[in-house]
Amino acid sequence: MSSLRFRVVEAAFEKKAVEVQAPQKTSELFASKVFNRAKMFKYLSVKTFKKVEDSIENGASLDSETANAVAEGMKQWALEMGATHYTHWFHPLTEGTAEKHDAFADPDGRGGVIEKFSGKLLTQQEPDASSFPNGGIRSTFEARGYTAWDPSSPAFIVNDTLCIPTVFISYTGESLDYKAPLLKSISAVSKAAIGVCHYFNPEVKKVYSYLGWEQEYFLVDEGLYATRPDLLLTGRTLMGHESSKNQQLEDHYFGAIPLRVMEFMKDLEIEGWKLGIPLKTRHNEVAPNQFEVAPVYEECNLSNDHNLMTMALMRNIARKHGFRVLLHEKPFKGINGSGKHNNWSLGTDTGIALMAPGKTPEENLRFITFIVNVLKAVFRHNALLKASIASAGNAHRLGANEAPPAIISSFLGKQISELLNSLENSETDKIIIQDKQGFSLNIDRIPELFIDNTDRNRTSPFAFTGNRFEFRAVGSEANCAAGMLVLNAAVAEQLNIFKEEVDARIAKGKEKYAAILDVIRKDIKECKAIHFDGNGYSEEWKAEAKRLGLDCETSVPLMIDAYLRPSSIKLFESTGGDKGIMTSIELKARNEVKWETYTKKIQIEARVLGDLAMNHIIPIATRYQSSLIDNVYKLRDIFPAEKAASMSVHNLEIIEDISTHISAIKEKVDEMVEARKVANKIEDIREKAIAYHDTVFPMFDIIRYHIDKLELVVDDEMWTLPKYRELLFIR
Ligand code: ADP
Ligand code: MG
Repeated sequence: MSSLRFRVVEAAFEKKAVEVQAPQKTSELFASKVFNRAKMFKYLSVKTFKKVEDSIENGASLDSETANAVAEGMKQWALEMGATHYTHWFHPLTEGTAEKHDAFADPDGRGGVIEKFSGKLLTQQEPDASSFPNGGIRSTFEARGYTAWDPSSPAFIVNDTLCIPTVFISYTGESLDYKAPLLKSISAVSKAAIGVCHYFNPEVKKVYSYLGWEQEYFLVDEGLYATRPDLLLTGRTLMGHESSKNQQLEDHYFGAIPLRVMEFMKDLEIEGWKLGIPLKTRHNEVAPNQFEVAPVYEECNLSNDHNLMTMALMRNIARKHGFRVLLHEKPFKGINGSGKHNNWSLGTDTGIALMAPGKTPEENLRFITFIVNVLKAVFRHNALLKASIASAGNAHRLGANEAPPAIISSFLGKQISELLNSLENSETDKIIIQDKQGFSLNIDRIPELFIDNTDRNRTSPFAFTGNRFEFRAVGSEANCAAGMLVLNAAVAEQLNIFKEEVDARIAKGKEKYAAILDVIRKDIKECKAIHFDGNGYSEEWKAEAKRLGLDCETSVPLMIDAYLRPSSIKLFESTGGDKGIMTSIELKARNEVKWETYTKKIQIEARVLGDLAMNHIIPIATRYQSSLIDNVYKLRDIFPAEKAASMSVHNLEIIEDISTHISAIKEKVDEMVEARKVANKIEDIREKAIAYHDTVFPMFDIIRYHIDKLELVVDDEMWTLPKYRELLFIR
């Protein structure tokens, strides 16, 4: 009898909200725990402040004297804030962040301690990090890795610890994290975009890439979570029949937020604001118990740090409110999974939004230039972009009848599509497009554009949404940097190519804008395949995309191959300075990490599923079946044989049914264990991941099918695992 399940469910439904109130106004709270420029100005000398600012803005390196001065000011602030420890905070190639705390305390030689912190400790440390994934880089090259301060993301305090954002690299210079290549991609795209901007605005000195993420997540009651070993160990449910009611009434999206959840959200926002994260939007998502949080967009590196900080905050704060947050891409079968839309754009230091239409024909030519270059970049590297968001978890969303499909394409909306068509087909430099009222304009080059924001397409993995592109294929648990660095790199490469082509035409005597239009026209034709405004879920699109030559691979281990294509290696090596954003050695090492991570995730899921099937499900089903058999026997004792037989018809059917499912489960679990054994013997990391994908993973759904059928027939009181209807409806 599963009295535990009922006790836990009852306790979950009786839980009251933990009330949360902001101690101050948002504007007063905001960034109170961040060593931002305002704090720097207060705690550093003018000379030091200027040098740090130069380092933040222009990447200038800091001398040791300045570093010491910054460390001193930072320490003073941190101590005033009650901090006792400091840590280098970095993003290893896992889904989270890493930190190792050290106390400020240093022996003073007289039996006491003094608070000590230096420029050396601020700028560089050597974490004992041999257990972070590195794809063999460290064993092949140099045993040690070190973390180095990233002044462009400000230090912050969590609990009693000063956290210093850092990159993580090996002593031979290979990056072992997401931040180092992201920073290189940001400066690569800035450099390339400045070149193209100068056709229009010679005063531009810097181009920022911006990121605004929308984080989807589920909440479940902590007690229920604790009684689901699959959630606990894999982050998703490996079994569970659909609830009779889930999202079919579409009553959850933007619906009223349950009080308990609201208090969690408030708490998250308050703590986020203190850390300088501009959290702005909160709402229910499509599925029951699914929610979203989104900040205002920021510079890409900072925004990504803020996303990682937010995910960490969510995990902690959820527990304070008796919840667990599920960041997995597909925690529940049959209802929507979670993604993380990455809204991305470029903007100049002079305040021009390069992905937004302007007011004059010239501004709009610039706008179209950038839009077409982004399209071309996405077209050239569509397989790589998909690889950048491929993971065991995200595979459940991609191509699995849910947004987005496992094909990268770009939605542009009616107006831009028409404009591109007319540009492509125009012979002269004069372009005709329709304005919003359908009024025909015949103006030199490109007239004023009104982007219709209601023109949206939810099925597109890379949609233009008025002043930015929204990369929707990113997984909810992913580090945004993986996708953003590929996008930045691809756009940087493309802008460089574009500039060469335009310059070549100018050199031959073509007028500047005519040269630009000429190249744009060619590019629109070349990258046509990537532009798709239709329904991305449809079967027709899958067939069409294949015909157009877009990457349609659905197996994660094979998608990842895209990183090692010659075009990808060239992309990473040719953009981002001396050694490029990443070398082929780094790319190979990272792929090893990806294949290994994939294998481990499927391996763990297979073990958990096998265990639960054998020691939860089969025993319970057998026990229930025995009680039915007992009933059949007893009926025979008290009724004449014929009557007893007719009274037992239904139970006999169920008894047989249960046996069928139990046999199938046992047989398939054995097969799965066998498939694992075979896969485990494979030495090659890539081949092993492929074997896990092809032979182990397909067993999951078959086993689950039989378990879920049993859930429907077995006495509810005996069933030990909380059901979907209990997990999914917070009161
Ligand atoms: P939705 O797509 O759900 O309507 P919002 O309009 O609230 O979402 O915006 C989603 C995210 O896009 C927010 O983080 C927002 O700040 C960000 N965003 C808006 N404009 C830009 C831009 N030009 N570049 C990058 N991100 C942007
Ligand atoms: Mg959005």
